[in-house]
Amino acid sequence: MTTAVRDVSVFGDAIAYFNEAADLLELDASMRAILTHPSRQIIFSIPFQRDAGGFEVFTGYRVQYNFARGPGKGGIRYHPGVTLDEVTALAFWMTWKCAVVDLPFGGAKGGVTCDPATLSMNELERITRRYAAELVEVVGPDKDVPAPDVNTTPQVMAWFMDTYSMHMRQNTPGVVTGKPLAIGGSRGRVEATGRGVTILALDEMANMHMRPEEARVVVQGFGNVGMYAAKLFAERGCKVVGISDITGGYYNAQGLNVEKAFALAKEHHSLEGFDGGDRISNAELLVSDCEVLVPAALEKQLNTENANLVKAKLIVEGANGPTTPEADRIFNKKGIIVIPDIMANAGGVTVSYFEWVQDRMGYFWKEAEVNERLEDTLLVNFHEMRKIVNQYKVPYRTAAYMIAIDRVVQSLKLRGVYA
Ligand code: NAD
Repeated sequence: MTTAVRDVSVFGDAIAYFNEAADLLELDASMRAILTHPSRQIIFSIPFQRDAGGFEVFTGYRVQYNFARGPGKGGIRYHPGVTLDEVTALAFWMTWKCAVVDLPFGGAKGGVTCDPATLSMNELERITRRYAAELVEVVGPDKDVPAPDVNTTPQVMAWFMDTYSMHMRQNTPGVVTGKPLAIGGSRGRVEATGRGVTILALDEMANMHMRPEEARVVVQGFGNVGMYAAKLFAERGCKVVGISDITGGYYNAQGLNVEKAFALAKEHHSLEGFDGGDRISNAELLVSDCEVLVPAALEKQLNTENANLVKAKLIVEGANGPTTPEADRIFNKKGIIVIPDIMANAGGVTVSYFEWVQDRMGYFWKEAEVNERLEDTLLVNFHEMRKIVNQYKVPYRTAAYMIAIDRVVQSLKLRGVYA
């Protein structure tokens, strides 16, 4: 991708989507002003000791975008590309994501600009504990509840929870979600985002009269979201023909052995060495032959450089912000259906909500119960969204924003603005 595509503000792109829906809702200028500004942006230094001795300093962020519907909710990202702009956009999306599936949360997001591939486990632990300690006053089960995102794992959540609990002098599992099961995690959380992607894709395929066995699926990114989505697509009878991660892509028109790729990625956190298909680049993967495309890596992967070449009939945004507004317009014009990120990957935050509820009850549900409630929550809200699509003749993304904005505005109006 050229730098020009990456250089456009991610938050700017996100606001463009918001404005389209706000126009249709005839949202007044006061509400627009409030909803296009983050409540709070926190930037801090994270000094940490290298295993070999000596200190280095990374930058940490937490953006709490909106609290109208409840405590902040949103993951923590460890990546060299993390910026305040990106974290703000992600916190903005979390606000609409929680609202579109009707969870009692606002939106937030965090990040540390670092490359975890160059850090030992001990270094990661020190960085995480310092990150958590810096946020002790502003996070908590009733304030803001972080979760995993790119390069952060259940182990990272465990360190965060332990650090917060030590400061509070009481065990507080509900301060983060996505924890390991042994310390208050929820069954079904690890696969929840990928499961949600698959549930919505299959529902939409049925709406398009496409049977699972007729669907060739391509998944970009083979981390938490992509690997479980690919596995569940294969289990439901779809032919997964393309997968990729940062090391490159693999394509096999006959269908890939997803189980083998899954086992490899689970063990080595990488697809490097997978021998079940032709090696292709990530750029080739996105425009390869398929019916369903699931971008599940990072932002801006589908842009003006490749949108016209995309062959899929259905795009399900596992990642946050994988499509630029310009590419989105091209897809709409070509009749390609896009299930937008705020709906498509909401399975993760939905089971995070279930985890938070279970932590507060101290009573844990069976996996089947979690999965059933997940499917129910997603489909009820997805079908409501489809009604808006048909009523207003708008793309799925616009409909999702319309529902989400309307719900946040209702809460804001009832609470009033403390000014
Ligand atoms: P992850 O760190 O587990 O995996 C990311 C994957 O993307 C890895 O396989 C990595 O190799 C790959 N990748 C990175 N750069 C790439 C590139 N340039 N081309 C192709 N592949 C690349 O992260 P994740 O949790 O799976 O998150 C992926 C996306 O899904 C992010 O946009 C994240 O915000 C979003 N998301 C995650 C969750 C969740 O519960 N984890 C929930 C909602 C949305």
